[in-house]
Amino acid sequence: AAKRARLGTSVYEPGRDDHSAAQLTVISDLRHAIDHGELVLHYQPKADVRTGSVCGAEVLCRWQHPRLGLLGPDRFIPAAEETGLIEPLTQYVLDHALAQCHTWHLAGWDVPVSVNVGAQCLHDLTFPDQVATALKLHGRPPEVLTLEITESAIIADPHRASEVLLRLRELGVRLSIDDFGTGYSSIAYLRTMPVHEMKIDRSFTTNMRTDASSGAITRSLLGLAHNLELEVVAEGVEDEETWNALAALGCDIVQGYCLSRPLPADEFETWLRDRTLT
Ligand code: C2E
Ligand code: CA
Ligand code: CA
Ligand code: CA
Repeated sequence: AAKRARLGTSVYEPGRDDHSAAQLTVISDLRHAIDHGELVLHYQPKADVRTGSVCGAEVLCRWQHPRLGLLGPDRFIPAAEETGLIEPLTQYVLDHALAQCHTWHLAGWDVPVSVNVGAQCLHDLTFPDQVATALKLHGRPPEVLTLEITESAIIADPHRASEVLLRLRELGVRLSIDDFGTGYSSIAYLRTMPVHEMKIDRSFTTNMRTDASSGAITRSLLGLAHNLELEVVAEGVEDEETWNALAALGCDIVQGYCLSRPLPADEFETWLRDRTLT
């Protein structure tokens, strides 16, 4: 894949945020971080809304920066997308997440993992092969992997994206539309996109009980997804009342602070062990 502009004049827009100097450092250090294993993966469990049993984990990337401390994805994912570093970053995340998945498998836990995939990967015709190679390398069957994609990634080049998505689907990995309802023209694309799952954005679910329009949108999205025979994950579920409300609406899977925050792998294991024993 063609690597785009490295550090970028094109990336740096003075006044865009308050941390411009730090932001530049971030971009120039990111390549080094990917090559030297400074990216850390956290795992946030998802559970069956009815039984409460854990059915997978979303992989969320953080950066243990040597000087700036632990950085959240909002501090470096946008920069990675603009500089072309998102492809090696995604490769890193896939590789480490599947290695972890294999380790858990050997320990007796089969935890399917969901990995976030940005626009550039969906426009790269070699991406499905990269995914296949990573699965083979770590001896994991394709069905343990879900790729979370955003609508905006599809809309940037729908034709190319649907070709890549079709190949991924043929490979047997699961596909999920992330942050559904926050992009554009979403409903038209849903018809043609070969996806299995819809994630309702937390901007709708978190306030669904207190804000009437969020509640109405959540209900409509659930109906739409189910009519299209998609599995529905509600993200940003922070309390039991919301969990119960989603259960009553027939939502399939919940994710959010009510269950657990994203955790480093070792803490995730402890959490899983405690939960299975009780
Ligand atoms: P996302 O994919 O929508 O991920 C969900 C975000 O919601 C995560 O933020 C998660 O920590 C947060 N969250 C989960 N449950 C709750 C809750 O109950 N309440 C609230 N208020 N928040 C909750 P995080 O980890 O900061 O990630 C932010 C975004 O960064 C992600 O949004 C995703 O778009 C992106 N990202 C993270 N890791 C990766 C990655 O490896 N690759 C790519 N391309 N993007 C990533
Ligand atoms: Ca996601
Ligand atoms: Ca999301
Ligand atoms: Ca989001």
